[in-house]
Amino acid sequence: MHDATPTNGTPRIGFYVCHCGTNIAGVVDVKALAEYVATLNGVVVSREYKYMCSDPGQELIQQDIREQNLNRIVVASCSPLLHEHTFRHATAQAGLNPFFFQMVNIRENVSWVHEDKVAATLKAKDLARAAIRRVFSHKALEPKKVPINPAVLVVGGGIAGIHAALTLANAGKHVYLVEREPTIGGHMAMFDKTFPTLDCAACILTPKMSAVKSHPNITLWTYSEVANVDGYVGSYKIKVKRKPRYIKEDLCVGCMECVTACIYKDARFPDEFNVGLSKRKPVYIPFPQATPQVVLFDPETCLQLKKGKCTQTCIEACDRKCIDFTQTEEFKEIEVGTIILATGFKPFDPAKTPYYGYGTYPNVYTALEVERLVNASGPTGGEVILRDGSHPKAVGIIHCVGSRDEKTNRWCSRVCCMYSLKLAHLVKEHTGAEVYNFYIDMRTPGKGYEEFYDKLLKEGVHFIRGRVAEVTDWATTPQEEGKLVVRVEDTLIGSVRRVPLDMVILAQGLEPRADAQDVRRLFNISCATEGFFLERHPKLAPVNTFTDGVFIAGACQGPRDIPDTVAQAGAAAAEALALIDAGHMELDPNTAFIREEDCSGCKSCVPLCPFKAISFLEDKKKAWINEALCKGCGTCVAACPSGSIVQNLFEDEQIFNEIDGLLSELAQV
Ligand SMILES: Cc1cc2nc3c(=O)[nH]c(=O)nc-3n(C[C@H](O)[C@H](O)[C@H](O)COP(=O)(O)OP(=O)(O)OC[C@H]3O[C@@H](n4cnc5c(N)ncnc54)[C@H](O)[C@@H]3O)c2cc1C
Repeated sequence: MHDATPTNGTPRIGFYVCHCGTNIAGVVDVKALAEYVATLNGVVVSREYKYMCSDPGQELIQQDIREQNLNRIVVASCSPLLHEHTFRHATAQAGLNPFFFQMVNIRENVSWVHEDKVAATLKAKDLARAAIRRVFSHKALEPKKVPINPAVLVVGGGIAGIHAALTLANAGKHVYLVEREPTIGGHMAMFDKTFPTLDCAACILTPKMSAVKSHPNITLWTYSEVANVDGYVGSYKIKVKRKPRYIKEDLCVGCMECVTACIYKDARFPDEFNVGLSKRKPVYIPFPQATPQVVLFDPETCLQLKKGKCTQTCIEACDRKCIDFTQTEEFKEIEVGTIILATGFKPFDPAKTPYYGYGTYPNVYTALEVERLVNASGPTGGEVILRDGSHPKAVGIIHCVGSRDEKTNRWCSRVCCMYSLKLAHLVKEHTGAEVYNFYIDMRTPGKGYEEFYDKLLKEGVHFIRGRVAEVTDWATTPQEEGKLVVRVEDTLIGSVRRVPLDMVILAQGLEPRADAQDVRRLFNISCATEGFFLERHPKLAPVNTFTDGVFIAGACQGPRDIPDTVAQAGAAAAEALALIDAGHMELDPNTAFIREEDCSGCKSCVPLCPFKAISFLEDKKKAWINEALCKGCGTCVAACPSGSIVQNLFEDEQIFNEIDGLLSELAQV
């Protein structure tokens, strides 16, 4: 790198203004701007070029650095978010420290927001002058390199977490997969068939679940949660809470002898996996393919655990001596370099839309309940029957329950149209009933999805376009006696209809999980306004978060179907792998640091840091900033009463120079 210290106090600055096609040049007089900047103190080269981000544009900068011995570079173009890295890289390639580069955004801040060309050019000149003055006090900075621990934590064992874990494990990396429930599988494990191919969910999911269990590179902790996260990219320290199953997991083979021997001869407690449509005992395995195949005791219903008195016939029945009622919560501490969050979604609770009668009329079901009803391993062995045991002859499926509605959730849940079509097909297949879909718009944008819709039309499923007003049991005609009545405005024929039905299925939308905010805080990431985890950039970094080394996959980021979930999980695994294989990550050096001699030890900065980067050194009575955690937000710098916190690239002198440059003269056109 060549010596960038200006020998005579004056830097040698190269200035470049980008036309960005007509994006900038259509509004800003780029020629006049370049000519004006050429007159400013310290400017050696001032050029305009069509596309500065193109290879020839970057080459222009590099050639000037080499030939004109430039030691500062200013580019006036688009947002630094897009091309700051490009130009820093070009600067470094020519041998100059990349932090001697400064970018001026005259696209988003000037040409895109002004129509008056004269005023826009004046503003561009002011901004350019400010940047030229600023780079006088720029300093060489070196990025910090942090090594990456190759182990990965995956949180959530739905299809997203399973796929990410297997991808990483197959690539030879060690994965800790932490799942809150007693088994992995997530929502997909509850389905019988999946759209649009109608392949059996269990047939495609269970091999992956078994692969997770038996993979030598995966440590699977079910019935567990992450309790604490410390550290930073490359070196996260994680504490995992393992809830007691009251079973020695490594000994239990899932023979179910203890379940048979339980003092409760009949199952009598609501079975969570069957969404309450069947009963289970206090000791149980959630479903036949549950992974791991290990029973657990529910402390809320097991007599021994709840009341301390039971005949404990289960203990006698267990040959392998697995049962241990003395178990308590256990904590595991692990170190990983990267984290993938795959915590999934929560189905909308239809109690919030009482006009659809869920909870009032027994034959109004949620879609998830019907997923279990049509399932051969479900509560009715795959028979679609009503609460009284009879078979429905007319079934209605109401779309968009809790979606696309200002009163509940504004977003489209993306999967409900397709799973409603799937359920329409399955219900018709199982019962031969007339099936009605009440939809607002039919959304089928996926491979084979529109074809699936066509297939349903040919099968004779009815489609009524309109938002359902209410579901009641008020009969106004003899045909409506004893039926549920859906009142809907059919917008295709322009009249209000009353459709008598035996069964109503509510296609509930997808929501962020209730604890999404807690998880967000734990992993120091952000949530979008609707509560799903926020990606760093919706197009360019869709699985990254604003916290380095923490990635997101699946429905925790927003509603999505299984194909999209799997694709995104693969992408998150690839991002983690890229970091691991690089061996280290370079962190931007525009972080804050404490000038110890000025720090009064007042601690006011410590709680303010949103990234938990500041700690207090008791021995020195001084604050200390962990550069690997600092994101350079500047909160502490602004708050420090003694002015002892400095932020690289945003030092007082640099900011004052910029302001001076901005105010120093009124540019002339
Ligand atoms: C009724 C219905 C039918 C559907 N049918 C289809 C279909 O046929 N085809 C299709 O493509 N899509 C379908 N979908 C969409 C499908 O369910 C999702 O695409 C898929 O489940 C998303 O997977 P996931 O792993 O992101 O989330 P989930 O399946 O929700 O899995 C998340 C997992 O993370 C665990 N978890 C949550 N929080 C934590 C935590 N803090 N710590 C540890 N673990 C945690 C959960 O227990 C769960 O196991 C349907 C959705 C619904 C509601």
